This record gives sequence, C-alpha cells and structure tokens, in this order.
Amino acid sequence: VQIHQNEQQWITKDSQYIWHSMKPYNPDETLVVTEAKGCWVTDLTGKKYLDAMAGLWCVNVGYGREELAEAAYEQLKKLAYFPLTQSHIPAIQLGEKLNELLGDEYVIFFSNSGSEANETAFKIARQYHQQRGEHNRYKIISRYRAYHGNSMGALAATGQAQRKYKYEPLAPGFIHVPPPDSYRDNDQAENPRDLRSVKVIDDVMTWELSETIAAVIMEPIITGGGVLIPPEGYMKAVKEVCEKHGALLIVDEVICGFGRTGKPFGFMNYGVKPDIITMAKGITSAYLPLSATAVRKEIYEAFKGTEEYDYFRHVNTFGGHPAACALALKNIEIMERENLFARSREAGERLLNELKNKLQDHPYVGDVRGKGLLIGIELVADKDTKEPLDVSLVNKAIGICKENGLIIGKNGTTVAGYNNVLTLSPPLNIEDDDLSFLINTLTDALWKMK
Ligand code: PMP
Repeated sequence: VQIHQNEQQWITKDSQYIWHSMKPYNPDETLVVTEAKGCWVTDLTGKKYLDAMAGLWCVNVGYGREELAEAAYEQLKKLAYFPLTQSHIPAIQLGEKLNELLGDEYVIFFSNSGSEANETAFKIARQYHQQRGEHNRYKIISRYRAYHGNSMGALAATGQAQRKYKYEPLAPGFIHVPPPDSYRDNDQAENPRDLRSVKVIDDVMTWELSETIAAVIMEPIITGGGVLIPPEGYMKAVKEVCEKHGALLIVDEVICGFGRTGKPFGFMNYGVKPDIITMAKGITSAYLPLSATAVRKEIYEAFKGTEEYDYFRHVNTFGGHPAACALALKNIEIMERENLFARSREAGERLLNELKNKLQDHPYVGDVRGKGLLIGIELVADKDTKEPLDVSLVNKAIGICKENGLIIGKNGTTVAGYNNVLTLSPPLNIEDDDLSFLINTLTDALWKMK
C-alpha cells in the first residue's frame, strides 16, 4: 500500500513519541488505526481489516456504537465525577445489573483495569482471613502460563517467566502450579478430584499448610497462555479443594467475561460459584476503562467492623467513574437485546467446526480448540512430537493475514519457543459473511505459509 506524505508524518511522530507495549518499535509493523465500525478497523491509508483480536481487548459489541458514546456523553453532562468513597447512581445501577448477570449476591468494588481488579481481589482475600483471626493466610496459588496483569502483585500471580524476570522481586507470597493442558498432557480421571492438575493444588495446600493459603486465582480458560480449555470437572474440583483447605477461589473473568465463551461469565460453563470474580475489558466493550471485583456477600460481611482499622483500606480515584458505569450499563443492555451470548456460542461453534475441517490435514496445525468466540490454533513443527512451530513461521502466518485484511494474534507461554498458538476472538456480533471472510483468509494464509 502506498503511504502518502501526510500519512507518513503520523508514523514518524509515532516512532518519536509513543512507547508501544510488548515489542521493539518497528514502523513497518505499527498499524495506526483511525476509525472502526462493527468488526472492521481502518488504518491511515484507508485500508480495512477485520479485527479478529478485538476480543482480547474485548470490543465485544463491536466498534462504532453511537449509543455507547451517547450514554457516556449524557452522563458526563449530568455528573462528570464523584468518588466511590461516597456514591452515584450509575455505579449503583451497574452493581445491581452485575448481580443480575452473576445470578447471585455479590458486592462490587470498582477499579479501572484488569490488573487493578486482581490486586483488589488479593487484598480482599488476605484481609478477609485477617478479619476472621486467621492471620497466617496470605499465600495465593495461581497457574503457570496464566496472565493476570502488569502490576507487582498481578504480575507475581502471572505464570509466565518471560514477562517477570526483569522486574523481580515482585510481591511475595505467590505459588504456581501447572495448568491442565489437554493437548499436551493426557490428564484424565474418572473423578475430577483425581486429575493431576487438581491433585497438585490439593498437595501444595497440604505441604504449604492449609492455614497459610489465602486463595487460588484462575481464569476459566487460560487465554494469554494459549487458550487452554480445562478437562471436564476441573474447575469444580478446584473449588472443592479450596473449600477443603479454607481458601477462597478468585476467578479472573477479564477476558472470559461478558459473553466471550458463550455465557455471561466463563465460570458459568463449569458449574462453580466463585468467591471473588474479577472483570474488566468487556464490561464496557473497551469503550472506556472500567473494572470490577465482585465479592460474595458473606465475605463482604466480614469487613463490617466498627473500628476504622477494620475497613478495607483501599481506594481508587477513577474506579467506577460515572461515565464508564453509564456506558457499561448500555453495553450490557446491547448484549442482552441482541442476544450476543447466544451469538457467541453459535458463531463460535461454526468457526471451530469449519476451522477444524479445513485445517485437519495441515501439517502444522496440531490442535484447534475453543469455547464461544475464543479460539486457539496450536501450531507445531511435527504433529507427533508436538514440537512448537518456530515463531518466525507463526509470525509469517499472522503477516499474511494482515496483508489480506485480517488481524489475528498469537499467544503461548511467552517462554522462548512456545509462542505458537494463534488466537481468534472477534466481536460477538460478527456477521456470517465476516465469519466466512475470517475463516477463508486465515485458512488460505496457513496453507500459503507452509
Ligand atoms: N487478567 C487477564 C486474564 C488478562 O488477559 C489481562 C489483560 N490481557 C489482565 C488480567 C490485565 O488487564 P489490564 O491490561 O486491563 O490491566
């Protein structure tokens, strides 16, 4: 594509002023997006791309929804800001609506990002045990390969060494266990409590002493670590293990929440009732920053001390911003009005089945897996040994897609050599024609890449 002088100036200034996440600056790769509508984003040159990564930033209802802009605008005119040390109506309404979606009684603490929602959860879990006189319960168990955020606690919970080792020491008190990986490990059992990936949590709690464990944190499906769908009964069995040892279960719904996996929340696929649920991104379909930590009522009750030092000593200036809450309410209204949870299930099934069909004989495609509109394609150099495909080839596939107007991503453990899972997560309202474009462009790219 020809880049004209006035377009080039933005690329030049970008390289001068902007520090991008997760990559060395490469002007050839940087996509400067100017507008977007539905599933499609437009770059400086006017070229359009179907954003099949929108779901990892969680633009779940798609781009360009005027209703959402209006909801924020109307709220900003009426009440631009007030802190949640006191209260305002959009926060109260959203708290009520989240309870309805969660299907149970939760009290909501608002913040601005997934990382902060998880930090809040860790502090609540630790203080909850303190409030009840269990002063040694501070350890938090999480899984290798999981990503839980960029701050010193959320990064400590993260199980991807490559993201962490340059910033250590991180917050202490975090222990990692292996996640179930149904493609690479044959972790099966008649009773889910006997799964290796469950027993390891049980054993760690025993060896570390139950009375030192505050909580387990997990995503229903590890997303950033390579779209790992757990075996049948896994999550429920983990919850039982938590109960046995007196630990809380924190479920990170930052990506899985708000319809990504075909249900309002990912845990709903697995029949558990989490103690704490963290959510972000999809709560506003990423139109404005907002996150929430939903806490079971009984846990909140333990904080009802009369002494000032019994309070939850945690404050967040912008958390629960009125405009973000008003927008979130409208966003959830759209999801319900347009049946987007069901659409995610339906479209996800089609995407998964067609990709499996078209790619089953591909020499590099080891596994195609997913739930709802969250799909992972694991690329391997050899289907028998499952040796991960070299990242340069993975990048090549992503590059061909981009050239042909399709944005996809890659995930994995971020440990060198394991960044080999292509990730798809388009907006939940993706139309049939756009799904066909996605499927055809991606499968063509994979066949061309060989
Ligand atoms: N948890 C999960 C599962 C995530 O995927 C992310 C971000 N990708 C986070 C937490 C952190 O969210 P944020 O970037 O909003 O801090």
